[in-house]
Amino acid sequence: MLNIVLFGPPGAGKGTQSQNLIEKYKLVHLSTGDILRSEIAAGTALGLEAKKLMDQGILVPDEVVIGMIDSKLNANKTAGGFIFDGFPRTIAQAEALDRLLAGHNEKISCMLSLRVTEEELTRRLLLRGAESGRPDDANETVIRKRIHEYESKTAAVAEYYNAQGKLTEIDGIGEIDAIFGALCTAIDARR
Ligand code: AMP
Repeated sequence: MLNIVLFGPPGAGKGTQSQNLIEKYKLVHLSTGDILRSEIAAGTALGLEAKKLMDQGILVPDEVVIGMIDSKLNANKTAGGFIFDGFPRTIAQAEALDRLLAGHNEKISCMLSLRVTEEELTRRLLLRGAESGRPDDANETVIRKRIHEYESKTAAVAEYYNAQGKLTEIDGIGEIDAIFGALCTAIDARR
């Protein structure tokens, strides 16, 4: 299996590049943000609780997202591999992911981290908010909170994979196709 963690701050391009990567490498895309938004759309109790935090730009509790990933791994046992997008976002989530994958005799192949400046992230997120109506993209205070959550809780996750020799950093500013090419080169070097 090819199991990729696609990493980076909000607005780094993880969702866009995931779409390209799942097609090329025939992987299952697991985005905890997308799963949470579908829970909200379905009006579930979990979705309603998560929405309160998401609208403020705060991370939802580890056990909530770990449980979601656990059930997706169990539901996709024949997959050729996974792209984890927006997960893991804390060290506890990274450790849980290793445990869950080990339960399927699997492991993370590599982490690809997209690097983008804060100024460019804010510009992209405000644009996405205006175009998509995503509530947590529309407001600059919430965007700043999400970037702060990333820096205080999530950035350290890169070090977790770096310590395992699995981290590759990719410049996330430029043409989408050029960034996709750089991601593919990094993946092919690690297969
Ligand atoms: P995203 O679509 O990945 O930017 O996620 C949108 C929001 O969902 C985040 O700001 C968090 O509130 C929540 N969220 C998504 N993934 C996670 C995660 N792995 N851990 C905690 N909260 C998450």
